[in-house]
Parts: sequence; structure tokens; C-alpha cells
Amino acid sequence: MPQLPLHHVFHPDHADHYAATLGGGLDHLLRQLKGVAGPATGLTPAAAEQRVAEVDLDRPLADVGQVLAEMSRLWLDDAVWFHEPSYAAHLNCPVVVPALLAELFVASVNSSLDTFDQSVGATFIERRLIDWAAQRIGFGADADGVFTSGGSQSNLQGLLLARGRHERVPAERLRILASAESHFSVQKSARLLGLGDESVVSVPTDERHRMDPTALERSLAACADLGLRPMAIVATAGTTDFGAIDPLEQVADLALAYDAWLHVDAAYGGGLLVSPTRRDRLQGIERADSVTIDFHKTFFQPVSSSAIVVRDRATLRPATWHADYLNPREATNPNQVDKSLQTTRRFDALKLWLTLRTMGPDLVGQYVDAVIDLASAVHHARRGHGELEFAAVPELSTLVFRYVPPGPPLAEKESAALNNAIREALYASGRAMVAATKVDGVQHLKLTLLNPMATLEDITAVLDLVRETGARLAPAQLEAAR
Ligand SMILES: *Cc1c(COP(=O)(O)O)cnc(C)c1O
Repeated sequence: MPQLPLHHVFHPDHADHYAATLGGGLDHLLRQLKGVAGPATGLTPAAAEQRVAEVDLDRPLADVGQVLAEMSRLWLDDAVWFHEPSYAAHLNCPVVVPALLAELFVASVNSSLDTFDQSVGATFIERRLIDWAAQRIGFGADADGVFTSGGSQSNLQGLLLARGRHERVPAERLRILASAESHFSVQKSARLLGLGDESVVSVPTDERHRMDPTALERSLAACADLGLRPMAIVATAGTTDFGAIDPLEQVADLALAYDAWLHVDAAYGGGLLVSPTRRDRLQGIERADSVTIDFHKTFFQPVSSSAIVVRDRATLRPATWHADYLNPREATNPNQVDKSLQTTRRFDALKLWLTLRTMGPDLVGQYVDAVIDLASAVHHARRGHGELEFAAVPELSTLVFRYVPPGPPLAEKESAALNNAIREALYASGRAMVAATKVDGVQHLKLTLLNPMATLEDITAVLDLVRETGARLAPAQLEAAR
């Protein structure tokens, strides 16, 4: 019988192989990192797909060197790098090194957070971090929560818990009130909960893109008149496009008056919890029933790292199910699966733990402050520059704007085509990446700043590139539109 080659298994007997493999991987990564010349290379989807399609997955390569070389060809050579200052597109952060150190341990040891007997100390590290976050929110001793895969899952769980308070109310009578600029995961959650799209009532926003409390009260009163039950109000603390923070105190008053669950989606704005200068912007968050925080946004953590934190642990019950083989009703061990929508679950909490133990919360908060200050400085530096029309004063770290060429005003269709063409040209050039969104149906571009190392010069250069590209593309675009 030929011997089964077992050196691929993580095991003390294979420590040399493990060290050589990871060491080689680290060398490869550092070489690649040092060669990065921009946030992207502009590879097209067709070319990216072609390279991957050509791989024969049934024929492994001869050695790890070849494996890494192939990986680079398929992905890394053309990856989008979030540490590059001219990457300013989506809500992706550059990651902090203590969290990467944690990833090595998380993946190698592979603790699973569902039960104590698969995680031991990890269960309590996660619990301490939830307690810490709850304390930052301002919750009391009854608070609890759990790490999740992201803001979408946290929002789903928050709404599941809200649904749990109305088990006997038929789905068609339940309503979720959220601002028109809330995250789409609210709608998806409503679908997943069997409530249907019409269950989400879109509350208008004010000129700063915050939920209008007068409109909220009107919607709540209308629900009552129609015999509908306002199951939950979702307040957003940091909308994805404008970073707007809904008026939490006023929304909390209305939630109380109408006996609605208050879920605060602080996926983006959660970083303010550690800001040394701006924590007051979240005033009122402590009145929520549940809160979403995405550590993989404003805490500079690698994906995935998010949490749902609740004011009262008793409300987590709809997430609980007892399985005889895992967490039987009579279990005395602390089992995190009792609070989670997931079963097998990564020890993502370790990343935040090592981050806090290395950097401390204030420094993380200073990074958050840095990107908010940067957005404001960029706005100051470039507002009133004719060809860049800003849609709003920045609230957190996003800038929404569009390129408007000099001359007679463009029809929206032409303006949209031009702005989209600018964004595509920037990606294709590999020099900068910006995002796109619509404001009241009008196509805009967006910068999301989450890199504390980016400077005013870096970001004004991105805007100047937008202007140059716009000026270059405008004639051809307008020709094509006619
Ligand atoms: C990003 C975001 C989400 C979704 O979070 P994921 O981690 O991407 O699932 C939810 N709400 C807001 C306001 C967000 O910005």
C-alpha cells in the first residue's frame, strides 16, 4: 500500500511544512504588495473570467510555488487594493495588522463559536467584546448579542427578534418603517421573514438625508388607522451613500409611543462609538432594542466581522433552537449558537480583540476621525469648483458629486452616461476607483473614504482626475448621445 501523504494536515508533526508554506506565502504576499502601483489594473470581467475558466481543477499543480504563481495570475496581479489612497469607491477599509495576525490563529486553530466545547476561551472573548460594545452603546447589564457575518445578517436578526414579539399577528398586518435611504438589507430581511415587500414603509428624509421624524410620525399614525402593526422602526446611523445619521432621540420617542422595536443600523456609523471627538453624534443609540455594528467597515477589520447587540438578552429567544446533539435544552455550558443564526461559526471576534489589545479603542477612533476630517477637508477644497457639483456636505466620510461640463446644461441621460463613463475610465486606467449612486434618480459619483493614510492631496488628485477625465470624455459622450 502506498503511503497516504498527510503533510498537508495542520499537525505538530508537519510544523516544518506549515512554516515553510506560510513563510513562502508571506514572502509572496509582500513581494506582490510592494509591486502594487495603483488600486486596480482595470482588468475586464471577460478577461478575468477567461483566466479562471482555463484552470483544470482535477489536475493539481506540482508545488506551492506554482500554486501561488497561478493564484497571482488569476487574482492578485489584478486585485483591487483598499490600502491604496486613490481607492475611494465602496465601504471597504484597509485592514489593521493585529487583525491579520489574529486571522492566522483563527484559521489554523479553527475554533467554532457555536458551542463552548468547540471554542472554550473563545466563547468568553466574544462575550467580553459584545459586553464592551454594549457598554459603548450605553446599554445596561441585560445587554447581549453575537458576532455575525455582516451588517446584512445583523439587520436580518434584529428584524427577526422584532418579529418574535408579534408571533400571533399575521404577516400581512406587520410593518417595518425605515428611511428611504436605509440599507436594502432591510427589504431583503422582510422578504426572508415572509413579510413581503409591501411591509417596508419608506419614510421620507430631510435635506440632510436623515429620516424626517414628522413623516415617521405620520406613517405610524397611518399604520394605526389602517389596523396595521408597526413591528419595527429601523433608524440608520450612517447611511451608505451620505453617512446621514437619523435623529435617534426623536425616533426613539416615537418607537416608544407606538410600541415599535427600535433597530439602529450603525453598520457604517458604528465606528463613532470609539471616536474621541464625535461619540455624541450617536446620542440616543442607547435607547435601541438592537444595534448593528460592522467592524469590517469603521473598525478596520478584515471581512467578516460584524455584531448584533441587543438591550435585553431575553429578546434573543427567536434565534434559539435546541438540538439534542449540540445544545440540548438541559445543557449547562454557555453555547453561543443559542443566540446566532449561524451554527458553525468563525472566531472573528479574535481579530477585534487583538486590535483592541494592541491599539486600544482610542486609536481606532482616531482613525475614524481622520477619515471624517478628510472628507470635510476635501469638500472644503473642491466645492465651488464649477465642474464638480457636490450633492451634500459630508456627514461621515463619503462625498457624493457629479461632473458637470462647462457649457449648456446636459439632459440627465447624457449627464448619467458621462459620469458612468468617467467611473469606468478611471477603473480601466487603474489610477483611481470611485463608486456610483443615484440621488433622486440623478446619476452621481461617490467617494467613500476609509483610509486613514490617505491625504488631502491624494483625494483632491482623485477629484482632479475625475475632472480631467470628464473634460476628455465629454465631447465624444455628447456626440454619442445625439
Ligand atoms: C454596509 C451596510 C450594511 C450591510 O452590511 P454588510 O456587512 O455588507 O452585510 C447595512 N447597513 C448599512 C447602513 C451599510 O452601510
